[in-house]
Amino acid sequence: MITVKNLQKHFGKLEILKGIDLEIKKGEVVVVIGPSGSGKSTFLRCLNLLEEPTGGEITFEGQSITAKKHDINQTREKMGMVFQQFNLFPHMSVLQNITLAPLKVKKQQAAEAEKIAVDLLRTVGLEDKRDAYPAQLSGGQKQRIAIARALAMQPHVMLFDEPTSALDPEMVGEVLEVMKKLAEQGMTMVIVTHEMGFAREVGDRILFMDGGYIVEQGTPAEVFGNPQHARTQDFLSKVL
Ligand code: ADP
Ligand code: MG
Repeated sequence: MITVKNLQKHFGKLEILKGIDLEIKKGEVVVVIGPSGSGKSTFLRCLNLLEEPTGGEITFEGQSITAKKHDINQTREKMGMVFQQFNLFPHMSVLQNITLAPLKVKKQQAAEAEKIAVDLLRTVGLEDKRDAYPAQLSGGQKQRIAIARALAMQPHVMLFDEPTSALDPEMVGEVLEVMKKLAEQGMTMVIVTHEMGFAREVGDRILFMDGGYIVEQGTPAEVFGNPQHARTQDFLSKVL
């Protein structure tokens, strides 16, 4: 579904991504771990061109999205993204938050957009919150709405950047549950997280990033159970 070849990202003289190679298959759940500052967010943001790569190539569903002539808006619609900060529109109800992009971008009919939104609210366990405003929701509820909002565009892949890092501990589980359900339904997902238990349970593949490289990758059993690289061992010894 996604192929990344020699992906590089520089900010001025600062080299952040130094040549990332990766293939992500349809239905695969790839979990990215690694220390702060290793380039995880930059990598995720390059995948949907929120950051413009300075080198290398990304293809998505057979099309080069880094080619000059590529229409990025078309690709972004197919890539849902969930951030650490939920970024809900505060002046809009839950239902309006979820239906905004489908109405404006996908030109869906109001009744259809609403039906999809209500189905998604059920998926994330918040069907009773359709008319609530973000300020009336807990952090965990806001993040579940942010996930529903991303899903409303019917994306082919979901990118998550530390979706539970801003949450109080008691709310982390409810968000991870929703993500686990999505994974079980076959959604292709790339997830940056520090939740190692979740990574081990839900990830098909773990990537360990450090210093702008993928230092090591493998199944959860391989990476957590028998890390090969000293940097992976050192990182895991601090977080497990
Ligand atoms: P991670 O998500 O693994 O913590 P990031 O991808 O956010 O790492 O950041 C990697 C490095 O890139 C950091 O040193 C950060 O300061 C730098 N960086 C990120 N975005 C920018 C930017 N827009 N301009 C300059 N430096 C940046
Ligand atoms: Mg980050």
